[in-house]
Amino acid sequence: MQTSYTAGETTASLLETTIGENFARVSERFADREALIEAAGDGRADAARRWTYAELAHDVDAAARGLLAAGVAKGERVGIWSPNCAEWTILQYATAAVGAILVNVNPAYRSHELQFVVRQNGMRTLVVAPSDRTSEYVAMAREALAECPELRKLVFLPAPNASGEAVFEAGVPSSGAETTWEDLVGRAGEVPASAVAERAATLSAEDPINIQYTSGTTGFPKGATLTHRNILNNGFAIGELLGYTPEDRVVIPVPFYHCFGMVIGNLAAYSHGSATILPGRTFRPDAALRAVQDFGGTSLYGVPTMFIAELALPDFGSYRLETLRTGVMAGSPCPEEVMKRVISDMHMEDVAICYGMTETSPVSTMTRLGDTLAQRTGTVGRTMPDLETKVIDPATGETVERGAIGELCTRGYAVMSGYWDQPDKTAEAIDADGWMHTGDLAHMDQDGYVVIEGRIKDMVIRGGENIYPREIEEFLYRHPAIQDVQVIGVPDATYGEELMACIILKPGAEALTAEDLAEYCRGRLAHYKVPRYIDLRDSFPMTVSGKIRKVQMREEAVERLGLGAR
Ligand code: AMP
Repeated sequence: MQTSYTAGETTASLLETTIGENFARVSERFADREALIEAAGDGRADAARRWTYAELAHDVDAAARGLLAAGVAKGERVGIWSPNCAEWTILQYATAAVGAILVNVNPAYRSHELQFVVRQNGMRTLVVAPSDRTSEYVAMAREALAECPELRKLVFLPAPNASGEAVFEAGVPSSGAETTWEDLVGRAGEVPASAVAERAATLSAEDPINIQYTSGTTGFPKGATLTHRNILNNGFAIGELLGYTPEDRVVIPVPFYHCFGMVIGNLAAYSHGSATILPGRTFRPDAALRAVQDFGGTSLYGVPTMFIAELALPDFGSYRLETLRTGVMAGSPCPEEVMKRVISDMHMEDVAICYGMTETSPVSTMTRLGDTLAQRTGTVGRTMPDLETKVIDPATGETVERGAIGELCTRGYAVMSGYWDQPDKTAEAIDADGWMHTGDLAHMDQDGYVVIEGRIKDMVIRGGENIYPREIEEFLYRHPAIQDVQVIGVPDATYGEELMACIILKPGAEALTAEDLAEYCRGRLAHYKVPRYIDLRDSFPMTVSGKIRKVQMREEAVERLGLGAR
């Protein structure tokens, strides 16, 4: 019997260096090459901000010295609460250079959640986005400053301005505890040029450098704590498998506050001398494609819903996407049909699927260049180099046979050092042998390729049958009227649970009924897998990182259908 365990290929050596050292080496080597392009709000090339590696290294150094001048100690927590912008990247590398722990704060958080994370990790400095239409960042940050004694300093980022001037809202900064990004960077001259190198000499690859709060749908968020070694090596390995070179230009419409942006994006690109391109502060399908077109993107990232939205643009055919060759789709199940269109219609012949979670830095399995179409569209690839994965029976902990469904576990350099200040939660997630238990159901095929079947808690049990919503979603994606679909379980007096298909129709498609769907499924799906209910929607509730909130959809459905608590 072959068990569901594989180890990725062993590479010559993991990088045992800090992010700062790695960036210094790369930026020296590729000094004149373009490193970062931030498109203007509407993606117009003329108003974009651009940095070469030398310019980016200069700005990172200035910010690092500014942090030192402000007294930021090694290991001190510095938060950033902002949608994507160039300063996000600069701060990521500046904090790494001085050994401060960057805390990614979800830009969708509001006061209560912000204050929770500030207190949870004892954050002393918070870099804050300018307020925008959706979020009063400045006011909420000031509230946190007043309420949380550990928080000492707010650093306000300028508002985007087409003419390149830094603009701050009236009254910013207002007190000694407030400063602007410009002022922070302006303090660089207060410390000697050698100060960053002196601090760097005290840092080690094993030091924690980043805290990311996992989106957990229940309970309080937990702060996954990641080291230089965790995320630098994972980013580097992803870039290797994508074949990144200094010729690559990586378009990043996914958020930086999540690993997808800052690791699969920044660290993978910058460890290979590639350029990053930011299409905008938040995701817009047209801006993402404009950025590819205007700046010659070779690689495009997205969660599946982003690619679905791009492909659905009425003027999709008018974008010139021929420069694309690769990219990453990850974060939630990637429908095969969407993968196929991304390969054929977006020219992303070498697109990869990555699977992983924040706690594993994030990627633990990935498809490879040269994999068959079936492997690249129907699986999440195989184990990353220098990592191990296995599928276990959640009840017994035994590794299951190939092909059998169980819980996926990951071990190796990418597993986080733990949840910040929560040893009990860490021990629940990482067992004594170092295996991270993902909470994801999966099976591993004969060749070691992994197929994700869903979250353990999303599995639906109808009349004793285990149903994996993913299988039904894949089937329904092929329906000509369906643009996007999510399948959830709702309570049922007879069967325990019944299936509901939540559907976004293609523009112009005629409304579907539950009967239409049943007719479509007849003879092609076992009867118990045919959704009993249908819910036509314009959108799905999502986290900022693009995860669909199935728990919320289920609660809403229960309320609407009057199904009561289970
Ligand atoms: P996060 O920690 O926010 O990155 O969320 C991690 C979770 O996202 C995993 O445990 C999976 O449930 C899901 N996920 C990530 N990548 C994939 C993928 N390629 N296919 C299916 N699910 C994924």
